[in-house]
Amino acid sequence: TIPGVNEFLQQKEKSKLHEHEDENKRKYRTLLESRKTLPIYKFREDLMSAIRDHQVLIIEGETGSGKTTQLTQYLFEEGYCEADTEDEDEVEDGDDDDNIKLPDGKKKTKKKMMIGCTQPRRVAAMSVAARVAEEMNVKLGREVGYSIRFEDCSSERTIIKYMTDGMLLREFLGEPDLASYSVLIVDEAHERTLHTDILFGLVKDIARFRPKLKLLISSATLDAEKFSQFFDDAPIFRIPGRRFPVDIYYTKAPEADYVDAAVVTVLQIHVTQPLGDILVFLTGQEEIELANEMLLERTRKLGTKIKELIILPIYSTLPSDMQIRIFEPAPPGGRKVILATNIAETSLTIDGIHFVIDPGFCKQKTYNARNGMEALTITPISKASANQRAGRAGRVAPGKCFRLYTSWAYQHELDDNSIPEIQRTNLGNVVLLLKSLGINDLVNFDYMDPPPMETLRLAFEQLYALGALNHKVELTKLGRRMAEFPLDPMLSKTILASETYKCSAEILTIVSMLSVNNSIFFRPKDKTLLADTARQAFFVPGGDHITLLNVYNQWKDTNFSTQWCYENFIQFRSMNRARQVRDQLETLMERVEIEILSNPADTIGIRKSICAGFFYHTAKFSKNGMYKTIRHQQSVLIHPNSALFDQIPRYVIYFELVLTTKEYMRQVIEIENEWLRETAPHFYKTKKLDDDDKVKKMPKVLGKIKAELERNYS
Ligand code: ADP
Ligand code: MG
Repeated sequence: TIPGVNEFLQQKEKSKLHEHEDENKRKYRTLLESRKTLPIYKFREDLMSAIRDHQVLIIEGETGSGKTTQLTQYLFEEGYCEADTEDEDEVEDGDDDDNIKLPDGKKKTKKKMMIGCTQPRRVAAMSVAARVAEEMNVKLGREVGYSIRFEDCSSERTIIKYMTDGMLLREFLGEPDLASYSVLIVDEAHERTLHTDILFGLVKDIARFRPKLKLLISSATLDAEKFSQFFDDAPIFRIPGRRFPVDIYYTKAPEADYVDAAVVTVLQIHVTQPLGDILVFLTGQEEIELANEMLLERTRKLGTKIKELIILPIYSTLPSDMQIRIFEPAPPGGRKVILATNIAETSLTIDGIHFVIDPGFCKQKTYNARNGMEALTITPISKASANQRAGRAGRVAPGKCFRLYTSWAYQHELDDNSIPEIQRTNLGNVVLLLKSLGINDLVNFDYMDPPPMETLRLAFEQLYALGALNHKVELTKLGRRMAEFPLDPMLSKTILASETYKCSAEILTIVSMLSVNNSIFFRPKDKTLLADTARQAFFVPGGDHITLLNVYNQWKDTNFSTQWCYENFIQFRSMNRARQVRDQLETLMERVEIEILSNPADTIGIRKSICAGFFYHTAKFSKNGMYKTIRHQQSVLIHPNSALFDQIPRYVIYFELVLTTKEYMRQVIEIENEWLRETAPHFYKTKKLDDDDKVKKMPKVLGKIKAELERNYS
C-alpha cells in the first residue's frame, strides 16, 4: 500500500465526526460509482503501466471519456504525489500536522509532489477542479486546487492542481525546473493555444533533465500523431470512446441571422422532438445574452402549451455559481438548453445532450503583423471543430446536429483545421517571458509550428521601444520587472512608469478596471437613457481612464456597496472582479519594490504613466475630421461612449481599437505632444511631433534582428 493514500483515507475517517458526514458519504459513494462508468475506467491499469514505462505519453480520447477528471486522481492513488525517496525529499517549513519536530525546534516535513494539469480556459480549470474536489470529498483549494490569472485557489496542501496553461508558463519564472511537480498533464492539447504551444517546448526540455518527471499530453481525438512526432515519437494511448451515431442536418440556404435561426431551431426541437437536452454554440457573451432574451420572450408567449424549457448560459466570465448550474439535470418532463461558447466543444462535458445546434462560427483572435493590430473577430469554424461540436450530441444516445449552414459551405468554405494561435497573435508577452527564462534564441526555439517571422520581429521591436530590451536585444532591468506582471507588456510598463509619477495606486486601479473592460457600465434595453445619463455623470476631464478611476474610487467610498452599483447602472460583478485583480496586482508590486503611492489629483502624472506604456497607441486629429494613428496613419474615430466623444483633443491615446461599423478607439485619454518625447524617448523623435512628423526610425539594431530572423527562417 502507498503511504500517501493511507493518510488520505485516514483523514477521511476522521472527517466522519463532522455533521454532514452521512450526506457527504452518500454523495461520495455515488460519485465513486459514476466514476467507474466512465470509458477511461476500464483502461486504468493499462494506462498506469504505460505511464510507468514511458516518460512521455500522448493520451487521446473522446470528449467526456474522463481524461481531465480521472487521470489526476488515478495518478494520485498510484502514489505520484509522494516524493521520490531517492531524491532529496525533506524541506523545512510548513505547518502541517504530520511535520516532524526536530530537537532544535525546527520542523521538517516530507515534501509532497504535485500533479499539475493545464487547461486552455479558465472556466474549465475552475469547473474541473471543483468536480474533482467533490469526487475526492475534499474542500476545493486544499488537496485539490486551481490557479488562474488573478486567482489562486490552492494551498500548501494542494497535490492536484488544475491551472490555465498561461499560469503554468508563469510558474517557470519562480521554479525553472518545476521541481514541485511529479507529473505534468498538458490537457486539451488539440486546442493549440499560444501558451500550450510554448509549454510544449519548455516541458519537453525539462523532461530531458528530469528523468523521473512524467509528461502526459492529452487531447480529444485530433492531432495525436503530430504530438507524438514532436515529443520524439512518444507512444500514443488511445481510449476507445463510446460514440453513438449523430444525424447531421444542414440548412438549404445560408442563414442571414444565425442567432435568430438558432432560437427558432431550439423552439422547433422543443416542440417536435422527444426529450433530451440541447446545446447551442454561439460566439460570446453578447450573443448568448441575446439568444437568452429571445428564448425567454418566445417561450413566455407560448405559455403552458409547451413543456418546461430551462435556459442556461455558459461563457468564461459567468460567475461560478451560475456555471455549476449547467451540470444540473433538467427537471422531470422538462428540457434544458445550454447556450455556450466553444468552451463546450471539448473542455466541458455536459451529460444528456441529444441535440446540437451549430451556427458554424466562433470568436477568434486575429493579428495583423504588418500593423500590429489585434482583433477578436467572428470567424467560421474549421471542419474539425464542426465535427467535435456534432459529437457532443452522441455521447449518451444517438443524437442530432443541426448545422445552420449549407452542406456546400461545410465542404467548400470551412478549413480542415484551425490555425494555431501562435500564428495569429501578438507575441510580446510570451517573448518577454521567454527572455526572462533566459531563452535568448527565440528563432530556434522548439516550436511545434513556428510563429511568422514578422510577428516575432514586431514583438522584439515593441519590447525594445518599451525599454524592456536593450540595443543588444537583451532583457533590461525594466524588462525583468515587467515580466513579473501577468499582463500585456504595455500595461506592465504603465504600472512601472507610475513609480516615476508617484501615482501607483491610481494606475493599479485603472489597469484593473481596463482588465474587465466593457462590462463596467450596465445598459438595460428599456432604460438606455437613464443608464447613459448615469454613465455621463462619472465623466471627468482627461478622458476615459480617469473616468474609470473615478467610478472605482466612488464605489470604494461607499465601502464597495452593491446598492450603489445598482443605483448608478454599474455592474457589481465586474467591479468586484476589478477589485480582485487590483488586490492581486498590489501583491505583485512588492516583488518589483514599488511603493503604493496615491496622487489622485495629478491626472497629468497618471496620463503620463499611461503614455509611457501606450505610446504606440497615439492618434492625432487630422484635417478630415478623423483621427490618424501615428504609427500606421490609419483613420479612426473616438467611440461614441467615450468621455471625449464630443471634444476634439489634438492628441489622444487609446486602449484598444474596435471595428464595428467604423474603426473606433475605445478608452481614450487626452495627452500633450511633449509627453511622448518624455515618456518614450526610444520611440519618438526628440523634437515635437508636428504635422508631417514621423516616428523615430528604429535604430540599426532592429535591422540586425530582422537580418538574423531572415537568416534563420530561410
Ligand atoms: P474528458 O476530459 O475526457 O473530456 P472529463 O474528465 O472532463 O472528460 O469528464 C468526465 C465526466 O465527468 C463527464 O462525462 C461528466 O459527466 C463529468 N463531469 C465533469 N465535470 C463535471 C462537473 N463540473 N459537474 C458534473 N459532472 C462533471
Ligand atoms: Mg477534458
